[in-house]
Formats: sequence, structure tokens, C-alpha cells
Amino acid sequence: MTTIVRFAPSPTGLLHVGNARTAILNFLIARKNSGKFLLRIDDTDTERSKPEYETAILDSLKWLGVSHDLFARQSERAPAHQEAADRLKATGQLYPCYESALELDRRRQRQIASGKPPVYDRAALSLSAEDRARLEAEGRRPHWRFKLSQKKVAWKDLIRGEVEIDTAHLSDPVLIREDGRFLYTLPSVVDDVDFAITHIIRGEDHVTNTAVQIEIFEALCGTAPAFAHHPLLIGAGGEALSKRLGSLSLKLLAEDGIEPMAAASYLAKTGTSDPIAPFATMDELVAGFAMEKIGRAPAHFDPAELANLNAKLLHLLPFAAVEDRLAEAQVGGESFWEAVKANLTRFADVKDLWPLVVGPITPVIEDAAFIAAAADLLPPEPWDEATWGLWTKAVAAATGTKGKTLFHPLRLALTAREHGPELKKLLPLIGRTRALARLKGETA
Ligand code: GLU
Repeated sequence: MTTIVRFAPSPTGLLHVGNARTAILNFLIARKNSGKFLLRIDDTDTERSKPEYETAILDSLKWLGVSHDLFARQSERAPAHQEAADRLKATGQLYPCYESALELDRRRQRQIASGKPPVYDRAALSLSAEDRARLEAEGRRPHWRFKLSQKKVAWKDLIRGEVEIDTAHLSDPVLIREDGRFLYTLPSVVDDVDFAITHIIRGEDHVTNTAVQIEIFEALCGTAPAFAHHPLLIGAGGEALSKRLGSLSLKLLAEDGIEPMAAASYLAKTGTSDPIAPFATMDELVAGFAMEKIGRAPAHFDPAELANLNAKLLHLLPFAAVEDRLAEAQVGGESFWEAVKANLTRFADVKDLWPLVVGPITPVIEDAAFIAAAADLLPPEPWDEATWGLWTKAVAAATGTKGKTLFHPLRLALTAREHGPELKKLLPLIGRTRALARLKGETA
């Protein structure tokens, strides 16, 4: 059977690291099994859904490298949802209720006060046809609840193992609101059935939903797909991320200079039995992916760790992977990349490092006599990576300096910086003319 998975974001905000992780996990399982990945936009909440968020989510997924094979928008599938609702109404599994929010709330308060669980008491089930007609005549419109079996629903979760939820402890869920609009629960099941979804992989905040939805799957088509609920992301110190998720959008990560593959690597590996390490391509992540590696403990998201991973990824990128971007940034080519990549924390740093090669740099000269001696010893060109070693050896012999007292003033004179790329790689790029000018204190 072909694996078909789906990622189903609601277009009510930007894609954040939490739901991006869900997207990546679904994408990896689809690719690993040569299956299909459905991107489904859950836009039934017409008040909160916005086309611009849909566009932003699509952009972020593209940036991340998560491509979809199938696409659907729930708002365009209303007839299928309606047809399913009609079937459930016909069997009595979907029943009309007329209580107002206020009445329901009072009832809940009374239940809590008398020590009972605040579960909907199904009062609406005992309304007669006349009662309903009278309520409608008063102008009331029904909302519709799904009649749960009040039995234990069990499934073998691909991450959590055996899960059992007694639906007797749950209120019959409202599937259709008073104004006729569907809540998320039913359209999701109908779409999962129609797109022949084989695995539903989502956050563990949906575990209770799953028990309800399994009952709806069974009512509509007899069987439910496989489920896997992954633990949610938490902050480095164990704090819930939910409140900060707005500030952890992929858009922001991109603006902060995080490489898509650094984000993808981090989100694919956090909370798994694999170490968090940089991967340069999605194919490598797919190769290493296995559902069994996803742990049950919460997965951490630590922006500092991601920044660190981003640097590590840049350090291992070959020139071919960045050639176009270097050209676009109007900086040097392969030898420049090889000279500076180990110093990058963000790709954009190349722009800041390029002047070290082409100037202008205003040198910092602390000991003029020492630097003048070093300038006199500059070897003739052609220069290569061995030049720095030969030159500094000669300077050491002539001046009697070594270690930091030898290298640090030379670095300051040549680059005007305390730290930076390895000088043995940088020096041939700077070239003799410019190096000599800087050693003479000229801006070059
Ligand atoms: N739109 C739902 C959400 O974002 C999808 C949940 C699901 O995967 O079924 O929470």
C-alpha cells in the first residue's frame, strides 16, 4: 500500500518551528517509503484564516525544502463534508443541540460544583420533535454533536505505543456550529478518507482528538489510518514554547540567516535517538530517517543550538553548493570561500569578510618597527598557502618574536581585526601589493 501522509496547517498564522517539525516528519516518512505528501490547508475557520497566511506557509515550506505531491484546501471541499454530515445525521450519530453557550456553561459549573466531570449530559437527545419545533420557532438554531460510543478506543500509536482513551469521559464533540459552519474535526476525517491517508502524524496535543476521530472514521468508512503523535517542542530550559511560537516563525529564522537545511536538520533530529548534526541535503535526512527513532520525551528547540548548527553546516558546504550565492553577494569565488567558510556563523558574513581581501582596510599598527621589519621580509610572488608560514618564520628569526606576539600584530596590520580567517589562506588572496601597503600603514 502506498504511504500517503498529510500536513494540515491552518492558515491563521505563520509557519513556526513546532508545525514545521510536523511537516518535516511527514515529508521524511513519505520520501522514505516512496509515498505521497499531501499539503492540506485547513481553512474552515473563516474568521481566522487568511490567504496571506496560506501564501506565507507555502513560502516557508518551499524555503525549508518540504515539497508536496498533492494539494487541497478544505474550504473547497464543503460538499464532501456536507455529504458526510448528512450521512451521520441519517444514522442519528450526529444530533442537534439547542443549548446556548451560557446554558452549557451554567451546566458545567453545576457539574463541577457537585463533583461530577463536566461532560455534556446529552440532554438534547431526549428532545422530542415537538420540543425541537418549538425551539426553532423561538429562533434557535441547532449546533450538531457527534454521538460518541462511550467505549474504550484503542490504537497502536507509532510513537507512543498502545494508547487507550475511554470516550465515556469526553463530551460528544460539536462538529457543526449554530451558523452551519464546520469545526475542524469532521472535515479533517472526511478529507483523510477521501485522500486515502495511510498515516496521520501530528503533535501529541491531538491525542484526545484522535479517539474522537477514530470513532468518526469508523462511522464513515469502517477503518481508521495509522496514527503517530510526536511530543511537542519545548524550550531549552524545559519551558513550553506555545506562547513564544509566534516569534519562532520560519520567516524569522530565514531573516536571521538560518540556512534552510540547518533548520531542516535540527527539526528532523531534535527529539530523536540520533545526534543533532548538520545535513547538507534532504536526501541525507531521508536516508537516516526512521519512525522508531522519534522519542517519547519532549523535543527541545534551542535557538542557540540552531545557530551553532547553522555555523557547522556552513563550514561543511562545498563551493559548488554556494557558488551562485557568492556571485549574487558580489564577493570572491572558490579560494575566498575556502578561506572564510570556517569563520561564518551566517552566510551573509561573507559580505563583511570580503573587504579583508579587496579592501579598503585601515590597518592597526601597534609596533611600527616590528611591522616595518616584517614588511621588508615579505617574500616575492607567486604566493600560496605556504607563504604565510615561510614569511612568519623569517620574521620570527629576524625579530626574535614568536607565538601570539608574532602573529597578532601581523593580523592587526593586515586585517585591522583581532580575529578572522586563517591568514595562510587569506594572505595569497590579499596579494603582495595590498599586503605591503597595509604593512606600511596605508588604507588599502
Ligand atoms: N489544522 C490542524 C492543526 O493545525 C491539523 C491537525 C491535524 O493534523 O489533524 O492543528
